[in-house]
Amino acid sequence: MKITNIISEAKETIFSFEILPPLKGQNINDIYDNMDPLMEFNPPFINVTYHREEVVYKRVGGGLLEQKTVRKRPGTVGICAAIMNKYKVQPVPHILCGGFSKEDTENALIDLNFLGIDNVLALRGDSMKDQTYFVPEEGGHTFAKDLVRQIVGMNKGHYLEEELQNQSPTNFCIGVAGYPEKHFEAPSLNLDIKNLKAKVDAGAEYIVTQLFFDNKKYFEFVDKCRAEGITIPIIPGIKPIATKKQLSLLPHRFHVDIPDELAMEIIKCKDNEQARKVGVEWAKTQCQELMAAGVPVLHF
Ligand SMILES: Cc1cc2nc3c(=O)[nH]c(=O)nc-3n(C[C@H](O)[C@H](O)[C@H](O)COP(=O)(O)OP(=O)(O)OC[C@H]3O[C@@H](n4cnc5c(N)ncnc54)[C@H](O)[C@@H]3O)c2cc1C
Repeated sequence: MKITNIISEAKETIFSFEILPPLKGQNINDIYDNMDPLMEFNPPFINVTYHREEVVYKRVGGGLLEQKTVRKRPGTVGICAAIMNKYKVQPVPHILCGGFSKEDTENALIDLNFLGIDNVLALRGDSMKDQTYFVPEEGGHTFAKDLVRQIVGMNKGHYLEEELQNQSPTNFCIGVAGYPEKHFEAPSLNLDIKNLKAKVDAGAEYIVTQLFFDNKKYFEFVDKCRAEGITIPIIPGIKPIATKKQLSLLPHRFHVDIPDELAMEIIKCKDNEQARKVGVEWAKTQCQELMAAGVPVLHF
């Protein structure tokens, strides 16, 4: 079932979750142990992030470093299939431009389609750690909107080899990312929203936002999107702060602000247990306000 249909049929705010595949070598049972208690909230869909390869350096003695490319968290497609099978919920795999040629993308989408997966979140991905700017794979896409176009093409039965006969169309519902506090590379929030509109014009059917801690920023973002002519659902992304360290990690990683009031409360905490309580209370208040404002989904 498509996310857009789930949203239009919902009578109240839906809860959904986003999970990371486990680190290579770890067990899928750890994922199940974390997910089992979440089933109480009847999430109709669960997103599974995608992690491309990373460049790592290993000391090999004599002052020398060996450069290696590793994928620390493979398994997005396998976890999607496992979730569908075990919990009977819709998995939403994230798919990236980074590291994928158009042909790789086409093949990945064929796999997802054969598995009966109806939804994807189309993203560009970040630059590799050793690159300042995002560098697309040879023969791959530079921006998420180009990836959206390819998926929309496959939904119309257009594959890369034009001479293929009797192509079977896919039927993916396509989500994209939005940034209430601006994507860090965009020169301004307004230009970022214009680029978001281009993703919608290319065929995106809903937006999931970057996490945020200040609802005002989400509400203002939604207003600006609507003024730009974006009418599709905009799903807020929520993450409760869970450790003291996240106070600096989250702004660094996700390019978001933490409101002074929340930051001061976390600083005062003696340990992570206290910090988690503060983080959860803050997220609860955020969620209550967002639900009262009628958001379609709360995406954790
Ligand atoms: C909900 C969510 C889930 C995510 N999941 C993952 C994940 O699973 N794996 C992962 O690696 N990353 C993930 N990310 C991070 C994402 O890949 C990065 O934020 C990435 O840097 C941008 O991706 P995008 O799809 O928003 O890119 P785009 O929409 O392509 O935008 C990237 C930048 O380019 C600009 N831009 C767009 N079009 C143009 C144009 N025509 N000309 C000039 N500039 C343009 C935009 O304003 C923006 O600054 C996620 C982000 C969110 C919000």
